[in-house]
Amino acid sequence: MVLSDLGRRINSAFQDLSKVPTVDAASIDQLLKSVCNALIEADVNVKLVANLRSQVKAQVTALLNDKANANWTDAQRRQRVQKAVFDHLVALVDPQHGQTKTEDDSGAVVAAGNAGPGDIFKPKKGKPNVIMFVGLQGSGKTTSCTKLALYYQKRGFKTGLVCADTFRAGAFDQLKQNASKINVPFYGSYTETDPVAISAAGVASFKQNRFEVIIVDTSGRHKQEQELFDEMREIDAAVTPDLTIMVLDANIGQAAEAQSRAFKEAAGYGAIIVTKLDGHAKGGGAISAVAATSTPIMFIGTGEHAADLEPFRAQPFISKLLGMGDISGLMDKMEEMQMNGGQERQQEMLKKIGEGGVFSIRDWREQLSNIMGMGPLSKIAGMIPGMGQMLSGAGGDDEAAGSKMKRMMFITDAMTAEELDSDGRMFTAPIRSKKPPAESKELAIAESSTAAGKSKKKKKPQPKMRMTARARRVARGSGTSVREVEEFLMQYRMVGGMVKRFGGKDGFLRQMGMGG
Ligand code: GDP
Repeated sequence: MVLSDLGRRINSAFQDLSKVPTVDAASIDQLLKSVCNALIEADVNVKLVANLRSQVKAQVTALLNDKANANWTDAQRRQRVQKAVFDHLVALVDPQHGQTKTEDDSGAVVAAGNAGPGDIFKPKKGKPNVIMFVGLQGSGKTTSCTKLALYYQKRGFKTGLVCADTFRAGAFDQLKQNASKINVPFYGSYTETDPVAISAAGVASFKQNRFEVIIVDTSGRHKQEQELFDEMREIDAAVTPDLTIMVLDANIGQAAEAQSRAFKEAAGYGAIIVTKLDGHAKGGGAISAVAATSTPIMFIGTGEHAADLEPFRAQPFISKLLGMGDISGLMDKMEEMQMNGGQERQQEMLKKIGEGGVFSIRDWREQLSNIMGMGPLSKIAGMIPGMGQMLSGAGGDDEAAGSKMKRMMFITDAMTAEELDSDGRMFTAPIRSKKPPAESKELAIAESSTAAGKSKKKKKPQPKMRMTARARRVARGSGTSVREVEEFLMQYRMVGGMVKRFGGKDGFLRQMGMGG
């Protein structure tokens, strides 16, 4: 089962729970059974899955049996169960999760599950920072070295690549070719056969030339495993890396645990890159390696190109997996692209939201137009809450996805300035009814999209809403349907909620050092 199927299966288990008349022990057992079966089929380590099951069960049972929570509605009970599953999935991919808060290098507090590459390792400007790569041949080591070189080069570090793989014929040529494509200087030799000598000389030469990030690619295959590990230890001693990264192929399956432990003993790596998560890999095995070695995933590889490297954050990763989007990933991309008025405009918006301002339809429109310029849409869409599912009808087809997004832009084109600057509430009105308000579908969506949120506030049941004449006018003016306008607004609300959460005191702005 590929990773996106895992997300769908867990989501559908959540949906089944929302259909049962009461959230009781039996329905919770059923949910956990479905979630755990899906995890095992995705190759997540069986012991980890069993732990997750018993921990969620114990936590949820204690919560629901607590007399203080006796007046919870079924919707609230459901939300708590979903949140418990969500939090434990985050913990599965985040060895830091045991702590409620962690601190990044600058001492800023980072919410659990939101630590990113910069929290794991931050190269120091003006100093040499040596990064050594280890992993089996074919795992994507050389490709990932190039990707990381590009990542740091884009962030203004003077970066160089050293090829210490003398075992595989053509390894130096591959690195040379990759490095030339991204304009990163490289070091290697066709004649020297001692990888330790090459690494030491390469690092020394880059250091002499004041390089700031020096990445060493090592060999991944030997006749005997012991030889490989001995060589890794020798290179480690010769270059004294500031960070060692192990590269794991997402296709590794249940063998991940044993392999990652063996590498940990030999190389003592401090971070993991999981590659090939774009393909048909199950991914669960690689994810289990994190728990087995208490080592964080720093990046994931999502393609063969140098730019296909995504910073990994546990909470947004799980959120995206479950179709709830990945706003921080989206922000990372936008920051990188410096589009539409550039970074300044983006920072302005984030600052405004961080200070409690409205994330307006105009802001959403701007984000949409950025996204459309980012392409390929099928990759970006999953980062936007609800968008992955909405565009899944397009079947991963970029053209169809693009045309859906264009229609969303037409909707904003038909809005007045006042409407664009609003929070969208002017397009809906409550349906008057004598009966007490039922739990609407909209409420269920709002709850699931904030399942990871920390808010303990009780939610009032929301009245059912109808679209106003204003929404009908926008539909007419944009050549779309009222249903599409409604969908657009629903999406906008979900994104607004996520953006607010990430823009909060402990959220995304802080991580980017912008929150003040
Ligand atoms: P190495 O032997 O560990 O250095 O592995 P390589 O870097 O040569 O990669 C092996 C193969 O995996 C190559 O065909 C790469 O293009 C491919 N590859 C590496 N990373 C990714 C990734 O994230 N996604 C996909 N689809 N392919 C990848």
